Amino acid sequence: MKSIRYKIIVFAILSTLIPSFGFGVLSFQQNETMIGENVTRELRALANYASRELDFWIKDQILTVRELATTKILIDALSLENRASRNKQKNQKDALSLYLKSVQKRLDTVLELTVIDIEGKSIASNVDAPIPIMLDANWAETASSHGEVVIQPQWNTHYATPILGISVPILSEDDFALGALIVTFDMHELQSYLKDKTQSPLGDVLLIDRNGKTMLTSSDRNSEDDFSANLDDGVIERLLERSGEYTIFSDSRQRQLVGLAYTTARIPVAIIASRSYQSVYEAWEYQRTLFVWLVGLVLLFVAAIAVRMSHTIVSSLQKLIDATQKIVKGELDVVLTTVQHDEIGRLMQMFNQMADQLRQNQIQIETANAEMQQKNQQLERLSVTDSLTGLYNRNKLNSIISDQLARYERNARTFSILMIDIDHFKVLNDNFGHVAGDEIIVSVAKKISQSIRSIDYAARYGGDEFIVILPESVVDDAIRTAERIRIQVSSVHCSTLNKTIEVTLSIGVIQSEPEDVSLTALLSRVDGALYEAKRSGRNKVFSIRPRSGS
Ligand code: GH3
Ligand code: MG
Repeated sequence: MKSIRYKIIVFAILSTLIPSFGFGVLSFQQNETMIGENVTRELRALANYASRELDFWIKDQILTVRELATTKILIDALSLENRASRNKQKNQKDALSLYLKSVQKRLDTVLELTVIDIEGKSIASNVDAPIPIMLDANWAETASSHGEVVIQPQWNTHYATPILGISVPILSEDDFALGALIVTFDMHELQSYLKDKTQSPLGDVLLIDRNGKTMLTSSDRNSEDDFSANLDDGVIERLLERSGEYTIFSDSRQRQLVGLAYTTARIPVAIIASRSYQSVYEAWEYQRTLFVWLVGLVLLFVAAIAVRMSHTIVSSLQKLIDATQKIVKGELDVVLTTVQHDEIGRLMQMFNQMADQLRQNQIQIETANAEMQQKNQQLERLSVTDSLTGLYNRNKLNSIISDQLARYERNARTFSILMIDIDHFKVLNDNFGHVAGDEIIVSVAKKISQSIRSIDYAARYGGDEFIVILPESVVDDAIRTAERIRIQVSSVHCSTLNKTIEVTLSIGVIQSEPEDVSLTALLSRVDGALYEAKRSGRNKVFSIRPRSGS
């Protein structure tokens, strides 16, 4: 569609849409980046806090184990291991087991306490089947110099809790390594330390063991918010790959989360800090939706104005087109009505003025045409009329006779012809003057006209001579007409002299004959008849009868 209306609407929509969406997308992208940076900072702080707490907690536990490792009963038991009798050893081990059980009961976080000798063989434990703890092969050599060994924290299915093993060497009084005390701690207690209830930023913390298994979360395991058990292995892997980087991911309940993984050499686990995507982007998304709605509303408003504007322009143009079309077709009676005061309104006013001017011009042209037609008719009449009598002139007479001759030749339509001459007109002229003479010529012409049929022709042949053509008439009809004329003209009233003058006519009559091959031949024959009328005494009708006698 190539109409102006379409172009105006498209232009209005594009000029609203492009800048608003351009700036909108740019600013929302910047906001999104800023939000991402802020959340990354907060999540790092969250993970850092958890990492520090974990570090402190491990150190606390090491202190506990160290203290236990210096207990006399342990040192004595290991000292006796190689030297005492079997019975004594057995008693010592039983006493040691009892002791370890009592210690375990006393310490809430301790699950297992096991004493091993220098070869790594279990001497005594508070449980019958302690969790097998793998120590390095050369732990004994490094025991006195390196001290404690922290064994990788991990999820334990037997206790259904995360555990951490700490091994501390048991030294003799002369600092000789006798064996080691391995204590397995329940890390569950750490849950309440992972986050500072008041100061930590929003979010959850998750501890992952070396195998990617979730050990602890800062949220309550039974709560709705707990996502720890629901993270897929793939997601954890991705987070660990992008360690320290802000990542958006979904848990197995398809809830969107944002988070990052935190790993350092200092701590033996990975920490994942995360927040619900919605809580982070809720305000941003609300603003984005609001913006889209606002742009939509502005767009509607602009489109409505564009439609209205284009309607005004297009409907006015359509009126102008329709009116112009009428004028092209010659219908000048066109008036445009408008209430607009703008350019289009002015254009319509000027169109009306133009149409008005065209109407006036047309009237003038029509009047001039009518006048010219009238003049043409007048000229035409004058060209065939004798100015004095109003009868046909010689020219017209020639053409009438030629016509009649042609018809006669073609269809044998007989016509007759009278040649009329006023007798002794010279004398009348001389006696009454030329003016009276003219009046007599006019009177005779009038009487001739009155005496013939409407289909007959009367012409002034010259001076005091007239010719009458009677179509479809034979000589006898013509003689009757000639006699009628002669009698009618016998006296003429002359108004200039105010008296009646006696006037006689001589008339020659013939009818068309095959020998009349030309105008001259015909006229010469009728002139002959007239001559005979004059010669035989005037005031006469002389006719030449056709040779066939018809
Ligand atoms: P005739 O009986 O033999 O016809 O005699 P006549 O005197 O009429 O002779 P003719 O017809 O030859 O003379 C015509 C005269 O008519 C001659 C001329 O002076 C006169 N005449 C010709 N035209 C006009 C005219 O327009 N007005 C007037 N008043 N006289 C005319
Ligand atoms: Mg005469």
